[in-house]
Amino acid sequence: MKICEMFRSIQGEGKLIGVPTYFIRSIGCNLDCAWCDTKYSFDGGTEMSIDEIVDSARDETHICLTGGEPMIQREFPELLDRLLEAGKHVTIETNGSISIKDLPDSENILVSMDIKCPSSKMTERMDWNNLALLKPKDQLKFVLANEGDYDFAIDIVRRYKPDTEIIFSPVGGMDARPIAERVVESGLNIRVLLQLHKIIWGDKKGV
Ligand code: SF4
Repeated sequence: MKICEMFRSIQGEGKLIGVPTYFIRSIGCNLDCAWCDTKYSFDGGTEMSIDEIVDSARDETHICLTGGEPMIQREFPELLDRLLEAGKHVTIETNGSISIKDLPDSENILVSMDIKCPSSKMTERMDWNNLALLKPKDQLKFVLANEGDYDFAIDIVRRYKPDTEIIFSPVGGMDARPIAERVVESGLNIRVLLQLHKIIWGDKKGV
C-alpha cells in the first residue's frame, strides 16, 4: 500500500478528540474538495507492505486510517483486518462517497464519515445509503465553511435522522460562534468541535 505518512499525535476531531492516536495516511483521494487541507497526500508516497505498516503500529492502541481516502486502497480490507486482529481500536476517516456496507461489524471500529457540504463542491458524490448504516458508536461529520453549509447540514440531519453521533466542524480559521449559536437554537443533539490539532500546532503536516 502506498503510504503518505505515519505518525503519532493526538486525535484532533470527533469522539476521540485528545486521545493519543497513530495516524496512517494513505495516498490518493477520489474527491477534490474546494477547501481540502491534505492535497499533499494525493500523490507520491512510499510503498509499504501490510506487515510493515502493522508492525510500525505494534505499540499503539488507537489507530486512525486516513488520507486522502483510505477506503479506495485495494489492500484496505486486509490492513483493517490485521489491525483488528492485533487488538487495535481503528478509526476509519472516510469521505462519504464510498459504501461502508462491507465493513466488519466490530465494536473496535469507529467509522468517522463526512458528508460534504455545498462549499466543498462534492455533495453530488455522496453515497446517501451510508447514512442508514452508521451506528451509535460511529460519527457523522459536517465541515462547515459558511451559513449555507449549516442550512444544508441541518436539513440532512432532520431528513435522515442518522442514528449516530453528529458533529459540526467549522472549517479552519472560520469564526465558530455563529455555528455554535445556531446549533444551540436548533435544539438538536449536535456536537460543535474545532480541530484541536490545528489549535495546538497550526495547519501543518504530521500532527
Ligand atoms: S475527501 Fe478529504 S482528502 Fe479528499 S479532497 Fe476532500 S478533504 Fe481532501
